[in-house]
Amino acid sequence: MRTITLINGDGIGPEISDAVVKIIEASGLKIDWDIQTAGEDVIAAEGTPLPKRVLDSIRENKVALKAPVTTPIGKGFRSVNVQLRKELDLYANLRPCKNLPSVKTRFDNVDIVVVRENTEDLYAGIERQVDSDTAESIKLITRKASERICRFAFDYAVKNNRKEVCVVTKANIMKLSDGLFLDSYRKVAEDYRDIQKKEILVDNLCMQLVQNPEKFDVLVLPNLYGDIVSDLTAGLIGGLGVAQGANIGLDYAVFEPVHGSAPDIKGQNKANPTALLLSAIEMLKYIGEYKYAERIEKALFDTLREGICTSDLGGTYSTTEFTGKIIEKL
Ligand code: ATP
Repeated sequence: MRTITLINGDGIGPEISDAVVKIIEASGLKIDWDIQTAGEDVIAAEGTPLPKRVLDSIRENKVALKAPVTTPIGKGFRSVNVQLRKELDLYANLRPCKNLPSVKTRFDNVDIVVVRENTEDLYAGIERQVDSDTAESIKLITRKASERICRFAFDYAVKNNRKEVCVVTKANIMKLSDGLFLDSYRKVAEDYRDIQKKEILVDNLCMQLVQNPEKFDVLVLPNLYGDIVSDLTAGLIGGLGVAQGANIGLDYAVFEPVHGSAPDIKGQNKANPTALLLSAIEMLKYIGEYKYAERIEKALFDTLREGICTSDLGGTYSTTEFTGKIIEKL
């Protein structure tokens, strides 16, 4: 039986991870979950929101499913999510955004994959207070990280029969940093003759995405633009409740939804487990469990097709009722 690390998170994390674990169990697939707590709730006992045991567990199991974890603001802790990605060198953040059955949105032909660089840019955390009225953040871009994320995007396109990889920058203004990212893309692109290339500025991309999202296929972006644009693409397919994600490196992979811990709906049995479930389905494909991944995906899609959904999608079903309906289908 495969052992997988499960970080059940805080906020709505425990509710949605409970749902996903039950759904996977109902599919017939047996997984030995190595449950690791992290975030706000463990700080008092362990002095950090990301104890070493969590990283050790992922290093041992190679794969993790992660529900959202809150990093307390202003208490001097680095973001758990950012730290996890850095420690494990999960350099690629993959966020596929595709319309789901019966989920009404403005567009019904969205099928975009956002590939976000995960380790540098303004997220490198290099900041300083110059004086009491001035603060400074460094936008760090390296050729090594830029080339490997572009290569990841092209390889993903080849493996998944995608037609185009579009690079997104603001290289007309940040000529050196975004210019380096763009140059790295161009170099890597030479190795992929069968994939179409496109270059776009991030502001233009945002406008076009909300007018003609069907024009886009795979997008590759530096960290900050990737963060913002992937929330936009999540909005195109029904919002954060359905937006899946994965952080992938050479050795490890952590699958997690795009959304945060949603403290406003914590404990109300309202949270939509779909984003975590879709992330888990991708995880099952990643570990080669295609049969179970397809079985669960079908049960989810059939449930949505019947108009059964949680309140974020306009439905009346609670987290547990929605989960129960998927389990019935399995
Ligand atoms: P973070 O900065 O940690 O990403 P955030 O500030 O972007 O967090 P989220 O926690 O992602 O915020 O929540 C944003 C909004 O989306 C909230 O109103 C929340 O209730 C809603 N939301 C997020 N996830 C879900 C979900 N799974 N089901 C239903 N609503 C959700």
